[in-house]
Amino acid sequence: MIIGCPKEIKPQEFRVGLTPAAAHEAIVNGHEVIVETGAGIGAGFADEDYIAEGATILPTAADVFAKADMIVKVKEPQAVERKMLRKGQLLFTYLHLAPDPEQTKDLLESGATCIAYETVTDDRGGLPLLAPMSEVAGRLAPQVGAYTLQKANGGRGVLLGGVPGVAPGRVVVIGGGVVGTHAARIAAGMGADVTVLDRSIPRLRYLDDVFGKEFKTAYASAANTMELACEADMIIGAVLIPGAAAPKLISRAQLSELKPGAVLVDVAIDQGGCFETSKATTHQDPIYEVDGVMHYCVANMPGAVARTSTLALGNATLPFMIALANKGWKQACKDDKHLLNGLNVHDGKLTYAAVGEALGIET
Ligand code: NAD
Repeated sequence: MIIGCPKEIKPQEFRVGLTPAAAHEAIVNGHEVIVETGAGIGAGFADEDYIAEGATILPTAADVFAKADMIVKVKEPQAVERKMLRKGQLLFTYLHLAPDPEQTKDLLESGATCIAYETVTDDRGGLPLLAPMSEVAGRLAPQVGAYTLQKANGGRGVLLGGVPGVAPGRVVVIGGGVVGTHAARIAAGMGADVTVLDRSIPRLRYLDDVFGKEFKTAYASAANTMELACEADMIIGAVLIPGAAAPKLISRAQLSELKPGAVLVDVAIDQGGCFETSKATTHQDPIYEVDGVMHYCVANMPGAVARTSTLALGNATLPFMIALANKGWKQACKDDKHLLNGLNVHDGKLTYAAVGEALGIET
């Protein structure tokens, strides 16, 4: 099979769908790999790195789309890319079709077979191709929050780790899933006094069993949440209710009860945000202030660390990509129900029920 990787063209997207190591693995498995020139540059991979593994560099995305049997990407195809997809071609990337009728229509019209990273599942009920990005965003959250806490950036001027004789900063993480756990671990590692809130008692039990005294846990009742938030220097929003917008856990009126210069890092902003005053920001202009409280609400946090994110995503997608290339999509999906869950579009038909329900299209 010919596997093609174009350069990402969505603004501010520096990741790449295929690492040189993944290209190597595909070539060892007997496939041909074609990569658009400069595709890996944002993640620190030169054309020469791909050539060294046996891949061929092509001058334009059009060349890659025209020749490849399978296109491997990061972001959903943009309008100009969707026009280049053809019947029978396989697309393996993040799609997020439910809120995107235009993309869905174009993919249906293309006749391509489209497997979405975000709906591939695993045996433990998790989403293995989303989890690496939650890990990245979670670990990044205390880092960007600590920077925002600095006085010159509008924060309280608190050093998270404190110093001998001065208490550490207080961090409250709301939501103890993948993002929240990784955020709590890094904040605790920086020396902060950390509490994780969740609505799931089994999850709180798990966190307590595994992390012991590294950080505290609390049940996320509205009263507990506000009591802890009022004492916090940094609050990290990491909740998720699958398939729903994030619940608003701190209202605008409640902001005045927080410490002046406290920092809200709303990782859940890609689901609408869990603070009433959150609005999506970009890496260019990530921070803003409302009623004396600093907000960091970047919707694609992993983009800030494109190299780490590319490597983490590449590790997770590699076995699926190799299975698709070795067996063809039909056999690969027959053999692996979790990969089959990734199938969203095939030959002009929507094959994923939740997307169909969201868009009112028959599946
Ligand atoms: P997850 O499902 O692993 O964890 C979510 C947790 O929130 C669960 O443990 C759940 O019990 C808990 N929860 C739900 N409602 C709650 C409430 N009212 N109070 C307290 N806890 C509650 O999800 P995740 O992978 O950790 O993702 C968390 C959020 O981060 C999602 O919205 C996800 O889309 C987002 N995310 C954003 C970025 C970004 O760049 N901004 C990157 C990755 C993930």
